[in-house]
Amino acid sequence: MLCGHSKQGLKEIVRTYLKDTTALTIESIAVIGAGTMGHGIAQVAAASGYRVILRDVDRESLARGVQAIERDLEKGIKLAKLTEDDRDQTLQRIRGTTRLEDAAQADLIVEAAPEQLQLKQEILRELESLTAGSFIFATNTSSLSITEIAKASPDPGRVVGMHFFNPVHLMRLVEIVVGKETAEKTVNAVRQVGRRMRKETIVVKDVPGFASSRLGLALGLEAMRMFEQGVASAPDIDKAMELGYNHPMGPLRLTDLVGLDVRLNIAEYLHRELGSETFRPPQILRRLVDEGKLGKKTGQGFYAWNDETGEARRAHST
Ligand code: NAD
Repeated sequence: MLCGHSKQGLKEIVRTYLKDTTALTIESIAVIGAGTMGHGIAQVAAASGYRVILRDVDRESLARGVQAIERDLEKGIKLAKLTEDDRDQTLQRIRGTTRLEDAAQADLIVEAAPEQLQLKQEILRELESLTAGSFIFATNTSSLSITEIAKASPDPGRVVGMHFFNPVHLMRLVEIVVGKETAEKTVNAVRQVGRRMRKETIVVKDVPGFASSRLGLALGLEAMRMFEQGVASAPDIDKAMELGYNHPMGPLRLTDLVGLDVRLNIAEYLHRELGSETFRPPQILRRLVDEGKLGKKTGQGFYAWNDETGEARRAHST
């Protein structure tokens, strides 16, 4: 105790006092949601040396998230990318919890809960009510407006988008999305976190689709229209991009991996929000979704997928 304040309390006071003049330093990260993205973000954060609190509302989902991290680290050891010591240190830095109070103590809170505006706002509102409000709130939303989410905070300057990609430990990009009120020091702080995680960061305005989804989808939808018009077969359209433009994967194969239903949802959203014909969903996409051909997860999309090998067997014909 110092002058009646605990060490933690003093840190809080100093931080609040210096809030507007100093760079924000991130030492601990809380991740909200231990699903596909949340567990990956927690793993990468811990592997980068941060103390991590992983919070899920559901005990079983939390356990599955932690198991997924363990499995992934084991795989890293088998591939000689990690040592047993790396694994142990990473795991030691992660603490799982179902209590939001635990997460509220972190310097940076990365939210990876389901894609619903109200839910994300509720989480932020509750966090603000639990703490003095000095944390940065970074949402991993892939489509919602950062500015809208930030309305749940009395200080929207601390709210930003940190869009990671799946699988988080392999994908090198973090798209930093700047809301109308996001403060520059918030952007700088999360860029630094991204760098420490050995990711490349890009900074993008809060517009529908950000940069990645808008560009990726424009290419994907045009590839579908070309397929529909019989310009070329699905593998040949994909090869045009893979071999001609060095994309690691063609747009139709990628659509099968992401899920045709997911891409249709995003296309409808961007078509509505941006008012551009580029994003009008092609008939073939609607038809395949109606037929339940959602891509790899259902065994059929623009390709037929082999359950055992997980490989595309043959292409769909129009
Ligand atoms: P997911 O369904 O795999 O995981 C969500 C987790 O959040 C679940 O474990 C659920 O139990 C938990 N949860 C629900 N309510 C919660 C709450 N109030 N507090 C804490 N945890 C809660 O979802 P996901 O695929 O990991 O997606 C999470 C976010 O990341 C979404 O906003 C999504 O749009 C975005 N995103 C997803 C991908 C992807 O490829 N899956 C890529 C980029 C961004």
